[in-house]
Amino acid sequence: MDQQALQTPIAYLKGVGSSRAEILKKELGINTFGDLLRHFPYKHIDRTRFYKVREIDPELPYVQVLARLTYFEIVGDKRVKRLVAQAKDETGTIELVWFQGVRWIEKYLTIGKVYILFGKPGEFNGKPQMAHPEMELYSPEALKQKGNMTLQPAYSSTEKLKQFSLDSKGIQKLMAALLDQHGSDIQENLPQYLLNQFRLMARPDAYRNMHFPADAVSLNEAQHRLKFEELFLIQLKLLKNKLLRVQKFKGHIFQNVGEYFNTFYNERLPFALTNAQKKVLKEIRQDTQRGVQMNRLLQGDVGSGKTVVALMSMLIAIDNGYQACIMAPTEILANQHYQTIRSLVGDGLVEVALLTGSTPKKIRKILHEQLESGQLKILIGTHALIEDKVQFQNLGFVVIDEQHRFGVEQRSKLWRKNSIPPHVLVMTATPIPRTLAMTLYGDLDVSVIDELPAGRKPIETLHFYESQRLRMFGFMKQEIAKGRQIYVVYPLIQESEKLDLKNLQHGIEILRKEFPLPDYQISIVHGKMPAKDKDFEMQRFVKHETQIMVATTVIEVGVNIPNASVMIIENAERFGLSQLHQLRGRVGRGAEQSFCILMSSHKLSYDGRIRLDTMVKTNNGFEISEIDLQLRGPGDIEGKQQSGVLDLKVADLVADQQLLLQARKCVEDIFARDPQLALPEHQILHQAFLKNAGLTWDKIS
Ligand code: ADP
Ligand code: MG
Repeated sequence: MDQQALQTPIAYLKGVGSSRAEILKKELGINTFGDLLRHFPYKHIDRTRFYKVREIDPELPYVQVLARLTYFEIVGDKRVKRLVAQAKDETGTIELVWFQGVRWIEKYLTIGKVYILFGKPGEFNGKPQMAHPEMELYSPEALKQKGNMTLQPAYSSTEKLKQFSLDSKGIQKLMAALLDQHGSDIQENLPQYLLNQFRLMARPDAYRNMHFPADAVSLNEAQHRLKFEELFLIQLKLLKNKLLRVQKFKGHIFQNVGEYFNTFYNERLPFALTNAQKKVLKEIRQDTQRGVQMNRLLQGDVGSGKTVVALMSMLIAIDNGYQACIMAPTEILANQHYQTIRSLVGDGLVEVALLTGSTPKKIRKILHEQLESGQLKILIGTHALIEDKVQFQNLGFVVIDEQHRFGVEQRSKLWRKNSIPPHVLVMTATPIPRTLAMTLYGDLDVSVIDELPAGRKPIETLHFYESQRLRMFGFMKQEIAKGRQIYVVYPLIQESEKLDLKNLQHGIEILRKEFPLPDYQISIVHGKMPAKDKDFEMQRFVKHETQIMVATTVIEVGVNIPNASVMIIENAERFGLSQLHQLRGRVGRGAEQSFCILMSSHKLSYDGRIRLDTMVKTNNGFEISEIDLQLRGPGDIEGKQQSGVLDLKVADLVADQQLLLQARKCVEDIFARDPQLALPEHQILHQAFLKNAGLTWDKIS
């Protein structure tokens, strides 16, 4: 877009002025000509055809009818007057009614004349009706006039805007004026050869047709063009960043595999690695020998064994004289990692410590010293790792667990903990859909663990209704008698925390009656408890002093207790799919057959039913994540606000997956051929990158 003209403050557009400019800014965030142009209609109203009266269906959003006025009358008393009328074509009669502007409209009506009627159809007494239709006297000229026989844009507006006559119609007028006066300032930002190759509409035409399409096909092409552009520019930014990082950031070189790794591998590793784990380790090994900073996303289903891969990578770092850290999104998770890692390498092999918000000052101080002296090799913690004034002697490897809760910005803060940035391994809790990964983490390399450790019995998932509760209790007793432990999880939703807590307490009472002391012991963990009580209760369960753990979603991620083989999820219909899958992943970690029981009420929404059916049907997290994306749309996916890149204006990550893959491939090809975008035909992209990515050429956001 022409920087100058389209950056003009909106107040300078004819018909706007200062007070309307103010309200446009406040209500819609429209500051400039360009902003207004990008206020796309949320739909178009089809005025390309006339309906016959008989075809009118109240379900239709809008209809246009050609009919002859046969009757009208003002009814009601002085205060509540209304104008009723009838019009007729060869197929039937339609009722018209006005409650406002009665006098004014009356003047306009002549019985026997033909009118173009336009409005939202309704029904009255079983007959078609239209309230407040737009009316225009029919003539061949009127048909040719703007507005008729086209797709009319409908713009979102607000009550405030309407007070300034900026309803959809008002905005439409501004848009028409803007396109008339400045349409030619819109500039192309994709190379001609791409337009040819992908048959894309030129940019100025696309903008015009987004608002005032010549016909439905043009509207489609305009949308296609702008969607492609949007996805393409995001990929351009992500992949360019990746290239820049490679050029700019040197990486520590982990030359050797030494003592630490070998001792662990030969003497401590309690199982054989899966082929998938080996493959990923090899990828990491290659990355960390190239002299370039690694940025890798590790995708793997729950229970696929990402932790041990992370640990072994850290050991290689330590073998080469570096320190490593793991950052987790919650204290419980950080604690869990700490326990796991300590149990694997703690006793004498590697110095490991935990740092979270609740680490006492005294201990913190000691930790700081040990970090700076290099004595401490692995630090595990929460955000405290970034916020805290933690200084490493030589940080070489960073693991970020369950990354989608951290922002890009936080990631890069960790990089700055050393003059040469550490290698970064990002792990997600459950797989995320491919297209989403491509946009959220498009600048990272991806490793996938697509195989579960051998001997795992697939978790059996059952869906029980409330009426089957007694059967469930019976099942629980049976499993406990076999020596198993059981999770019972309740939903916790921020908005109704009180209600949820009540729900939880009610559930506990019933459980206590069904599972009385002293035969049964129950641990309880919920979000409102002090950390040390939580920990105490967790530990009782870990030590198998209790058989049942009742919890809110605090155990959602990362907890690893192999003897717990039954997961019961209460009000399962209230959880999202990926959450359900996460929770289910807490069991199935030992040798025993595990179960997941989804409890729900009989009343289920359409989506709720699909979620539960999906859970019963499949254990595959990759499959589940795709279904989740389709159900929820990317808007709901955690972490999207922080990422910024998912702020899509025209494209849709669910509907436009193919287009995204195309755009990604296209950018990859361009960079393979011309990484600097130095070719003359790519000058235009270079410019687009600078403008749209908001970056200067040699800086990284
Ligand atoms: P996630 O990928 O969900 O983080 P974890 O790393 O917590 O999975 O691993 C889940 C469980 O599987 C742990 O108890 C871990 O010790 C075990 N595990 C990991 N790799 C293997 C393997 N190759 N063979 C057997 N068990 C394994
Ligand atoms: Mg994990």
